[in-house]
Amino acid sequence: MFEHVDAYPGDPILTLNENFQKDPRQEKINLSIGIYFDDDGRLPVMKAVREAEAAMLADLGPKPYLPMAGFAPYRDAVQALVFGDDCATRTEGRIATVQTLGGSGALKIGADFLKRYFPQAQVWVSDPTWENHRFIFERAGFTVNTYPYYDDATGGLKFDAMLSAIDALAPRSIVVLHACCHNPTGVDLNDAQWEQLIAVLQKRELLPFVDMAYQGFGSNLDEDAFAVRELARRNAPMLVANSFSKNFSLYGERCGGLSVLCESAEQAQRVVGQLTSAVRSNYSNPPTHGAKIVTKVLTTPALNQMWRDELAAMCRRIADMRVAIHDRLSRHIGGEALSRYVKQRGMFTYTGLDAGQVDRLREAHGVYILRSGRMCVAGLNARNVGPVADAISKVLV
Ligand code: PMP
Repeated sequence: MFEHVDAYPGDPILTLNENFQKDPRQEKINLSIGIYFDDDGRLPVMKAVREAEAAMLADLGPKPYLPMAGFAPYRDAVQALVFGDDCATRTEGRIATVQTLGGSGALKIGADFLKRYFPQAQVWVSDPTWENHRFIFERAGFTVNTYPYYDDATGGLKFDAMLSAIDALAPRSIVVLHACCHNPTGVDLNDAQWEQLIAVLQKRELLPFVDMAYQGFGSNLDEDAFAVRELARRNAPMLVANSFSKNFSLYGERCGGLSVLCESAEQAQRVVGQLTSAVRSNYSNPPTHGAKIVTKVLTTPALNQMWRDELAAMCRRIADMRVAIHDRLSRHIGGEALSRYVKQRGMFTYTGLDAGQVDRLREAHGVYILRSGRMCVAGLNARNVGPVADAISKVLV
């Protein structure tokens, strides 16, 4: 019956991560997967999360199904964090938000919704982008194209080429944008560039789908949401996928949200209904535990502040590691190419290493990064940054 089923070649990132686990070398270093580790190389349990969870355990109750759209206080807390407390569209009830299975679930529910109501549209993603963008939108039935983004030569952004490609798209094309901490390159638009891009999106009547998986890891929670909030301020229709996997270190709890900015409260009600219908036909309703943790932290002032402080410290640690690897590498190599380590933002840096160099880094030195050259700088720490920089300098010669 299943003779015709192909072998799954595996996801390149997750497979590499599994290979790392199997590698018997003591000194191996994993900078492949997008996970934040602390300075001891451990996956942190945030203090605010621990406290919220302890309070929940002390008050265990029954576990009914959540509503299909998710836990209502969670949905409200998502909106406040993504759009800002004082956002006018929010108080006017024009944002349709559902709880989702992480950022991936938000993209999937959004893609299914869009395929139903914009069946002719095509999707445009940055070149390069997180691989799963393509998989999710193709699986939902879309043709996925790319717009120029990363400039190999400078380690920066091809902003003019990006803008003119987007300026030539058909109305109602869906443009997937990374709000901050672009995965895989670490290259973001500045505020002035966002303003220009948003003007083009509006002029061309394009539909932005903003993916915000790293809010709080670029500058801070508010600045990282600049694009989303500016789109909202200008009343641009959009979808936003947000994730608490990274900024709450709650990867396995699958906490995310999908929000759609609508023209009226009545329209938002209809959109929530259709998002709910997409949830129903995918998995009926989302899980409870993680959503309760996030809600408790976000809606309890003391826990909220504790979480913000902890997240800010994580963000600072990444910035410190960027400086550390930059400085250590500059002992071996010079030139402008190194500035990418400090200019790029968030968890990832495109090192500029080619696939052969990446293979040598892994085989000879036990340092795992992606074959595209993407390094997760959030996996660096005071102990491994020296050996990593030394290994990179060796594969470069
Ligand atoms: N979008 C981007 C750009 C990501 O990097 C990730 C996580 N790697 C996601 C979405 C999905 O996040 P989640 O794990 O919450 O599904």
